[in-house]
Amino acid sequence: MNVLVINTGSSSLKYQLIDMANESVLAKGVCDRIGLEHSFLKHSKVGNDPVVIEKDLYNHKVAIQEVIAALTNENYGVIKSMSEISAVGHRIVHGGEKFKESMVIDDDVMKVINECVELAPLHNPSNITGIEACKHIMPDVPMVAVFDTAFHQTMPRYAYIYALPYEIYEKYKLRKYGFHGTSHKYVAERAAKMLGKPIESLKLITCHLGNGASICAVKYGKSVETSMGFTPLQGLCMGTRSGTIDPAVITFLMDKEKMTVKDVSDFLNKKSGVLGISGVSSDFRDIEEAANNGDDRAKLALDIFCYRVKRFIGDYAAVMNGVDAVVFTAGIGENNPYVRREILTDMDFFGIKIDEEKNKVRGKEMDISTPDATVRTLVIPTNEELEIARETVKLVKLK
Ligand code: ADP
Repeated sequence: MNVLVINTGSSSLKYQLIDMANESVLAKGVCDRIGLEHSFLKHSKVGNDPVVIEKDLYNHKVAIQEVIAALTNENYGVIKSMSEISAVGHRIVHGGEKFKESMVIDDDVMKVINECVELAPLHNPSNITGIEACKHIMPDVPMVAVFDTAFHQTMPRYAYIYALPYEIYEKYKLRKYGFHGTSHKYVAERAAKMLGKPIESLKLITCHLGNGASICAVKYGKSVETSMGFTPLQGLCMGTRSGTIDPAVITFLMDKEKMTVKDVSDFLNKKSGVLGISGVSSDFRDIEEAANNGDDRAKLALDIFCYRVKRFIGDYAAVMNGVDAVVFTAGIGENNPYVRREILTDMDFFGIKIDEEKNKVRGKEMDISTPDATVRTLVIPTNEELEIARETVKLVKLK
C-alpha cells in the first residue's frame, strides 16, 4: 500500500510517497513558489539525484498534477499510474478542540477544518487548498487529516486554560493547544522501543528543537503538558520567535514604538528569538560559528535558548513526578552536540548525565547517557511523514 503524504504551505507543497509494506520512502520532493514567478518542482526518486522541473505552478491543483506526473515519469518516477496511490495523508496544523485524533476526510471533517481557520489563519487555509487540490485530481482516493494539535488534546483542563476571564475561552476557544504533536508522538513511541518498555509505563520529556521549537511532557503515552500555546509563539525561544514574554511588553511596544497589531505580530514571530538576540542569523550553525569567533550576542542567544530548554525540563519533571528519559529531536536536537550539552550540564541532580563521546552523534538514534545515569537521554530523528502515513493506513484500513 503506497501512501502519499502531503504538507501544503501557502506557496509550497512537500510530498513523500511511502511504501507501507516496509515503510520505505519511494520518492519525495517539493513544489515551490506556487502561484509566483519561477515556480518549480524538485523531485527525488530515493537513491537518485534530485531533478528540478521548472513549471508554471499557478495553483496547488497544477502542483499536485505535476507531483503525479513526476511520480509516474518513465525516468525518475516510482509508480506506473496514479492507481498505485492507495491513500493520501495530509498534515493539518490546527484541529481545534474537535479533533483529538486523525480523521478520514469527508464533508463533515472539512467543515470543522474550515472552522479552525479562525484559530490558524496563516496555516489552515493552505492545508485546505492542498486537500481540495488532491480531491480534484484524485477524487476516489481516500484521504486522512493528521493534526499537529491532536496529540495534545489529552492535556488536563488546568494545563490548557489561561488565567484570563473564562468567558474568553468559551467565546473564542482561546486556550493552549500545542503543536508539533505528530513529532512528539513519533519520538515518544520510538523512545519506548529503544528503552524496551511499554510507553504506558514511561514518563518522557520530548524536546523538538528546530526553527520552531517545543517541549512535551508525555506521561504513559499521553501529552499532559507542552510549551507552545494558543499559537506556536508561546514557550521556548526559537529561531525567529520570542517564545514566552511578559504580555505587558506588547502594550509597551505598541505605545512606545507606535506598533500596530500586525507590527507586533511580525516583531515577535519573525524578528525575535535567537535572530533578534544575536543579530546574526536564525540558524544555529551560523550563531555557533559567530559565538566561537567571540561574538558576545551570539553566545548570549545560545545561552538563552539552552537555559529555557533546561527550565522546561525541570518544570515537566515536576509535572510528571519524575522522568525516565529526555528525548532530543528535529534539526537542532538531532544535530547539535553543543546545545544538548549546554542544556543538560548540571542536571545530575535529576539523574541526567551524558557521555561526551556519544553526544557527538548527529542525525541517528542513540542513547547518549552515561551508564550510571538514572534518566536516559536519547537522540531520535523525527519522522513526521512516516507518522502521518501510519495514521493514514490505520484509518483507511478501519473504514
Ligand atoms: P524547521 O522547524 O524549519 O523544520 P529544522 O528542524 O530543520 O527546522 O531545524 C533548523 C535548525 O536545525 C537550524 O538552526 C540548523 O542550525 C539546525 N540544523 C539542521 N540540520 C543540521 C545539521 N545537519 N547540522 C547542524 N545543525 C543542523
